[in-house]
Amino acid sequence: MKQLLYYTDAYIQQFDATVIASGEENGRHYVVLSNTAFYPTGGGQPHDIGTLNDVDVIDVEKVGDDIRHYVSAPVTGDVHGTIDWQRRFDFMQQHAGQHILTAAFVELFNIPTTSFHLGAQTVTIDLDTQTITDEQLAQAEARANDIILQNRPIETKWVTADDLQTYNLRKEIAVEGDIRLVIIPEFDYNGCGGTHPSSTGQVQLIKILHVEKMKKQSRIHFVCGARVLQELAMRKDVLTNVARQLSVPEEEAADALQKVMTTAKQTEKQLQQLLDAQLTTIAAELAAQTIAAKAFDGFSMQQLQKIARTVVAENDDVQVFLASHVDGKIQFVAARGANVTRSMKDISAAVLPLLNGKGGGNDQFVQGGGEPLVSAEDVVLRMQTI
Ligand SMILES: [Zn+2]
Repeated sequence: MKQLLYYTDAYIQQFDATVIASGEENGRHYVVLSNTAFYPTGGGQPHDIGTLNDVDVIDVEKVGDDIRHYVSAPVTGDVHGTIDWQRRFDFMQQHAGQHILTAAFVELFNIPTTSFHLGAQTVTIDLDTQTITDEQLAQAEARANDIILQNRPIETKWVTADDLQTYNLRKEIAVEGDIRLVIIPEFDYNGCGGTHPSSTGQVQLIKILHVEKMKKQSRIHFVCGARVLQELAMRKDVLTNVARQLSVPEEEAADALQKVMTTAKQTEKQLQQLLDAQLTTIAAELAAQTIAAKAFDGFSMQQLQKIARTVVAENDDVQVFLASHVDGKIQFVAARGANVTRSMKDISAAVLPLLNGKGGGNDQFVQGGGEPLVSAEDVVLRMQTI
């Protein structure tokens, strides 16, 4: 394992090798090489991609002692390998950033990390604590950025299990045989098989984005290196857009938005009060009649039902026939007062075919709706002549 090129030198981007085995797995071709700089999925770090000669390497996995390079077409003989360096260096930055941030939480608050995920967008660590304060996050982030700025070396060292006790390891190592330590002197000693830059300065910058509450843990989402700039650019775009729409400087956008939201809530409340008053007035007018028939434009089914209920509650002798053209449909309601004996289902049965519609209800109260094949006025007229 020590001869693997990504362990010899994590900065090797191109190499020559010979195909020593090949095969097919679930329709995917793979080759095993005499040596390789392609990092296989492992230790929380995704695999490299790249090319062997002109053939794409789309996946790299460790199977037993072999490193399988899954290729888009078969390759044989001598090959020249090229790693997608942008992808790999990004992973190296994120991975080293994770070591540093994890060590900062241990150093400052004695909170260990239980797992690590390096995703396409953000990176996460799960901290073994249910509560973490904004102050703690700020301190850990600041400490991690200090370590980055100090540009300390990131060293790797193969040691035996017996050697381990001489190092102050962050957590116990379960691996047997030779162990690979990743060391940031006087800060972090950690068993890890991933790839890392040679100094902390190359991580560039670390930024915690948010905390996700888990059942028993806190998941910290963060980014390092170029991803910080990408996140900043995205947030800058969003904030600029929001501030422009609010016609305020960016730093005032949150306050301005809060004002807009407060005003919107007040307006909504006032509108609801006006609508309720309008429905009450309409219901009072209709309740004064024996045949209370009216067509509306834009009234919802809920509003028709509310008017009909109010009317029949006030007049025991009334029959209520309401219809509305709303959202490209015709909705209707028919209801009767307590002294009326005819069934409203007859009304529904007569109206639904006009609308190619569907409805429901009982003898006292029916509602339905369908396509606007006739107008709401026509529906109301039809209901009165049944
Ligand atoms: Zn690592």
